[in-house]
Amino acid sequence: MPEAPKNTQKPADYNLELKNKKTLQFIEDVTSNADEVQKKVLEEILSRNAHVEYLQNHGLNGHTDRETFKKVMPVITYEDIQPHIDRIANGDTSPILCSKPISEFLTSSGTSGGERKLMPTIEEELGRRSLLYSLLMPVMSQFVPGLEKGKGMYFLFIKSEAKTPGGLVARPVLTSYYKSNHFKDRPYDPYTNYTSPNETILCPDSYQSMYSQMLCGLCQHKEVLRVGAVFASGFIRAIRFLEKHWRLLCNDIRTGTLDAQITDQSVREAVMTILKPDPKLADFIEAECGKDSWQGIITRLWPNTKYVDVIVTGTMSQYIPTLDYYSNGLPLVCTMYASSECYFGVNLKPLCKPSEVSYTLVPTMAYFEFLPVHRNNGVTNSISVPKSLNEKEQQELVDLVDVKLGQEYELVVTTYAGLYRYRVGDVLRVAGFKNKAPQFNFICRKNVVLSIDSDKTDEVELQSAVKNAVNHLLPFDATLAEYTSYADTTSIPGHYVLFWELSLDGTTPIPPSVFEDCCLTIEESLNSVYRQGRVSDKSIGPLEIKIVEPGTFDKLMDYAISLGASINQYKTPRCVKFAPIVELLNSRAVSSYFSPKCPKWLPGHKQWSNKN
Ligand code: AMP
Repeated sequence: MPEAPKNTQKPADYNLELKNKKTLQFIEDVTSNADEVQKKVLEEILSRNAHVEYLQNHGLNGHTDRETFKKVMPVITYEDIQPHIDRIANGDTSPILCSKPISEFLTSSGTSGGERKLMPTIEEELGRRSLLYSLLMPVMSQFVPGLEKGKGMYFLFIKSEAKTPGGLVARPVLTSYYKSNHFKDRPYDPYTNYTSPNETILCPDSYQSMYSQMLCGLCQHKEVLRVGAVFASGFIRAIRFLEKHWRLLCNDIRTGTLDAQITDQSVREAVMTILKPDPKLADFIEAECGKDSWQGIITRLWPNTKYVDVIVTGTMSQYIPTLDYYSNGLPLVCTMYASSECYFGVNLKPLCKPSEVSYTLVPTMAYFEFLPVHRNNGVTNSISVPKSLNEKEQQELVDLVDVKLGQEYELVVTTYAGLYRYRVGDVLRVAGFKNKAPQFNFICRKNVVLSIDSDKTDEVELQSAVKNAVNHLLPFDATLAEYTSYADTTSIPGHYVLFWELSLDGTTPIPPSVFEDCCLTIEESLNSVYRQGRVSDKSIGPLEIKIVEPGTFDKLMDYAISLGASINQYKTPRCVKFAPIVELLNSRAVSSYFSPKCPKWLPGHKQWSNKN
């Protein structure tokens, strides 16, 4: 997640080498003293918030030591503090969770009751986020020198925001960051020399934003040394956009004029400082894009690119083959691990293979605890209902420096903005240590079965969406015998596929429109992040139902048993990923139906009557 382009002048005393050295020393210091730093962070959070209602109600009584904190304060999930969050959202400005004023809510891609979770934040957190960003390029420069001599082509976007009934802004963390002065008015830094002018990133219209960023990236193609987006899915979307619109873009480059569909005046002005008539460049791009194969299109159009900077850990790993194809196998670099709750850490070996990426949590960001993951604590169960931890489990949490190599943990954070012992929902595995600070592989987000972009659909949501949809089959005496699902990322954008096996008692054939209604009902029933991806971001394609031959799910079971599954314990998986299983299902599909239109989606929570 890079920072903003800014054309500020290089100050006379700017010393890149010294800056890098200082940053790397900071990483050495905080990782060497990880435990002391963590102790201080907790003391600071608890002392400044000693009088907030939440801590007082739990009887912390001003204590700031780890022992009392762990004894007195419960380990919680979002649902536990939702009543407090709702009060803040509804306008209660008393110090409920945090002594500092809540400046806004960050809307997480994690959902609760179908709506984005709201994470309180305070002004100073922007400084912590900036700090984490500032670590990335000094780390990178150790492995790829000379990046300060060129530009980065990053596709960055803002999303829509809403207001809570109490008047606080609610928006995604990156939207908040890009709109902040930390991003817009950054001092000179050769590492944040980007091809996209601020105005193109801050344009609320996603077509105009993408078009203008792509155009600026093409115009400066020789200067580009690295390319990227936040997540792999976003970067692939940009390539797809180019596939669709290269003729229009080339026309602009040839003539030096900007397409009339770009109506945002500030975008037009910013782009016109970069766009000059360049028929030779237009010819070159047309020749490359007009070829049958798009393999290696990144290195062909941006020949000096050294790596692709996108997150490909977690569910994003499904995009690695596509990225390899378009980039001719350039290094895929995952630089950081962050969330709306808190920015967590950085990858200190950015050129490692995607499967080996580990993130070093930066001990100054928050107070971190780790809940060991066992089979029966709700993390690995198939349909798991969020459950509170019992006494014993609460005591199992360990501190940052006490995690064990190879063990998996669920991440629990205590933040400056007022989350105390909050379960983020991510499962991490200890891969090694940087000094005293552990480095973690990102394993998964708990319970998530389907994800294309930032959407995270869990099994319970999928189950209830399917249940709503099958009502359409009732008039035809048809029932759903079995189902499973699959995130199909071979289409761009990717889409959810459901494999359905039906039991048919009736004789009336089921018209295609009924299955299409089923598709739409499922989409309408999924959470707001999914629906926003469909409607506003266009990052998810229409949901598909594939009807499979009777007996297909028996075959699936036979196959699983042949691979060693126990016949007594076998349960139909509600999501499949393993290629031979997907193939088996596809080979027995008899018909396929797509959602005929987008589901409904509006910014903000459904219970807020947003007029903005
Ligand atoms: P959000 O709250 O919407 O910002 O989403 C944060 C979540 O995205 C994290 O809790 C992770 O589940 C996921 N995430 C963020 N960074 C990474 C990463 N580098 N690798 C894998 N997943 C990530």
